[in-house]
Amino acid sequence: MKQKQQKCNPSPNFTTRLPRAGETILGQKFFIGFGGKGANQCVQSARLGAKTSLICKVGKDSFGNDYVANLKKNGVSTAFVGQTADAVTGTASIIVNSEGQNVIVIVPGANLLLSSEDLKRASDIICKAKVAVCQLEITPAVSLEALKMARASGVKTLFNPAPALADLDPEFYTHSDIFCCNETEAEILTGIPVGNLEDTEKVGRLLLERGCKLVIVTLGAEGCMMISVEEPIPKHVPAEKVRAVDTTGAGDSFVGALAFYLAHYPELPVEEMVRKCNYIASVSVQASGTQSSYPYRKDLPQDLF
Ligand code: ADP
Repeated sequence: MKQKQQKCNPSPNFTTRLPRAGETILGQKFFIGFGGKGANQCVQSARLGAKTSLICKVGKDSFGNDYVANLKKNGVSTAFVGQTADAVTGTASIIVNSEGQNVIVIVPGANLLLSSEDLKRASDIICKAKVAVCQLEITPAVSLEALKMARASGVKTLFNPAPALADLDPEFYTHSDIFCCNETEAEILTGIPVGNLEDTEKVGRLLLERGCKLVIVTLGAEGCMMISVEEPIPKHVPAEKVRAVDTTGAGDSFVGALAFYLAHYPELPVEEMVRKCNYIASVSVQASGTQSSYPYRKDLPQDLF
């Protein structure tokens, strides 16, 4: 079982060991990457050819400016990326030692200032989209409101309960057309420790009982499990066998790809979609970084499209 961390603008420092309180040590490497689950998912979708728009809030600071520029560079619309002087851009500061252990400080900053008013301003884009994808890196009530707005307009809703909340508002289950989580999130949501396929199937059944229509649990190197009201027999869809270099952000690659297929190939059987998503996410784990590892359509086998 892996413990996943929320990352906004991940900026890992690489050191031989983690510093003690009050200590200053020398590190070997430092870099700043772009993140945020919503942004990662938009970038993956856009790289596959989807027209994407991110609704979020960043600070009026250099991180915020770079963030907007990065989305634009990736073809993601920033018309509803607000910049506020009232908070800093969300960040995750990470220190990684040579054994791969880390300490992380997350500052959500402007993420928590995204409001109902911001959603109202973006209502046109939410209600006319083919697919709306929501996560929990903003205030959960605002995420739920976006999900409901989309749902009410007949937009397909894909919810990714990340980072997971043990006391998730039950309306998230009933307003998600597709509920897609990883093993850690599944365990936090249901209290069922996920160690094997049987446990995952129990989780899937419980989430259906809570009101989900279609549940997909991603299982890292094992691929994913899907179960739905229409097909209540759980189905395991195995992953590609690859040599993983860095699995950070694989789940966002998967969710971004799923949003692409739901929007562009709505008639495709879900099993076929998730097989393709497994493939795309497996490409992402073979390179380091998060967005930097996400494949472009032109570099993928054309039978995926
Ligand atoms: P998260 O990044 O949210 O923890 P997972 O680790 O479950 O998500 O990975 C999401 C998807 O990425 C998996 O369903 C699978 O398709 C792909 N994936 C992840 N790790 C591997 C791996 N080691 N080999 C092949 N595919 C992988």
